[in-house]
Amino acid sequence: MKILKIDHVGIAVNSIEDGKNFWAETLGLHFEGAETVAEQKVTTAFFPVGESEVELLESTSPDGPVAKFIEKKGQGFQHIAFRVENIEAALDELKERGVQLIDQKPRIGAGGAKIAFLHPKATGGVLVELCERS
Ligand code: ZN
Repeated sequence: MKILKIDHVGIAVNSIEDGKNFWAETLGLHFEGAETVAEQKVTTAFFPVGESEVELLESTSPDGPVAKFIEKKGQGFQHIAFRVENIEAALDELKERGVQLIDQKPRIGAGGAKIAFLHPKATGGVLVELCERS
């Protein structure tokens, strides 16, 4: 599998609007706009930083994965996303190695990227996302 770079770092927040105070106003990062991914019950906001981005995630529903994450662990770092060349090939390779996956197949995330999550049980506790952008 070829990992190209850290695509983004995902941070769970109660409110993107409040999050903007720190990430955009205090740190001066550019707010690229928000996008709701209905299937994941999440609204995401991206702030580019050089070659990578910060992604804020706000749940759209109390039973969404981000809401559940915040309930358990509080707001803060949620996942790291690696850009890969070929996400299908990467998932096949991980399956061959017996790595526990959340997504057996890629799905479409924010910005139309193909994404898939590895299970934190398989990674030492870190939620890892693979993503491929064309
Ligand atoms: Zn992400």
